[in-house]
Amino acid sequence: MYRIGIGYDIHKKSSKRKLILGGILISNKNGLVGHSDADIVIHTICDSILGALNKGDIGEHFSNKNPKYRNAKSSIFLKKIKKIMEKNNFSIVNIDMTIICEKPKLTKFKSKIKKNISKILDIKQNNVSVKATTSEGLGEIGNDNAIACKTVVLLRNEEN
Ligand code: ZN
Repeated sequence: MYRIGIGYDIHKKSSKRKLILGGILISNKNGLVGHSDADIVIHTICDSILGALNKGDIGEHFSNKNPKYRNAKSSIFLKKIKKIMEKNNFSIVNIDMTIICEKPKLTKFKSKIKKNISKILDIKQNNVSVKATTSEGLGEIGNDNAIACKTVVLLRNEEN
């Protein structure tokens, strides 16, 4: 059996925060505001997997009220969700994501993000697609006040 899931996330930018996307340090400034490291790429992957499993969303599993997760590396969340997925006998067929970001240009970081995500999830790089686009100067993302990400995942059940 196959199941599909979607994840969407947007965070505000702050000059005081590091920008971390897909577990990769992109910049020491102009990062994203959030309780954890605000890694929207990993947050959307978590939500897409949880959606495919019909197991709620990332906020239900890792509350932003919990002091334990303050400035936490989001890869911790993804590793825990991978365990939930495996407990339910599912594995990842492929992941496809689009990061919507005005600045900086992410071209040179896409392969690093792909490599890191495939390592965390223990899947082939060929099954992780990382795309980036801008908002063409439109809206909050276009004005460089926020970065968003959309992710789709396909899971396969090992039993049937
Ligand atoms: Zn988030």
